[in-house]
Amino acid sequence: MNKDLTIGVLGLQGAFAKHIAMLEKLNVETIQVRYPEELDRCDGLIFPGGESTTMSKLIDEMHIRDQLAKFDRPIFGTCAGAILMSSDSGDSRVPTFNKVPIKAHRNAWGRQLESFISEIDLSFDTDPFKAVFIRSPKLSEPGKNVKVLGKLKDEIVLVQYENLLLSTFHPELTDDTRIHEYFIKLVKK
Ligand code: GLN
Repeated sequence: MNKDLTIGVLGLQGAFAKHIAMLEKLNVETIQVRYPEELDRCDGLIFPGGESTTMSKLIDEMHIRDQLAKFDRPIFGTCAGAILMSSDSGDSRVPTFNKVPIKAHRNAWGRQLESFISEIDLSFDTDPFKAVFIRSPKLSEPGKNVKVLGKLKDEIVLVQYENLLLSTFHPELTDDTRIHEYFIKLVKK
């Protein structure tokens, strides 16, 4: 039913394979994106989680930064991917694409809480979502028109800004497809 769509997953480093598996389960055509010209085929793109410092270096090594900056179709950034899409990573080694007016603070949950699973509340569904956090950032100071779609207590963990989606957790690591389905709807618009 979604085979007319192609969603790319930036596949330079990190958790891209599980995103590809999730999209395939949802019957979407996917490509692992490594080269700039592959972006031309993508109706939407996922920036996966991983290590934002390393991913940032590889983006330059593969000469794909300019094309990623120009990509104006929907993008879903998860964890490290969300850091890269934010307006500020708080870390000079991680220049961001400044696509979403919100600040990211790397590894902000502190040592004891580095990785955990917690139910989060979604604004678009009554059932909570079991979210996997792995050395996740915290998001703060959302700009005008940033819609908060998911919260863990007072923390912002999922936002939408225009056709862009950011999560500080890893929805590809659960069997719950709701966040990816939400993104696919954005791509279809
Ligand atoms: N801590 C990583 C970073 O700062 C993000 C971790 C993740 O993507 N799971 O880039």
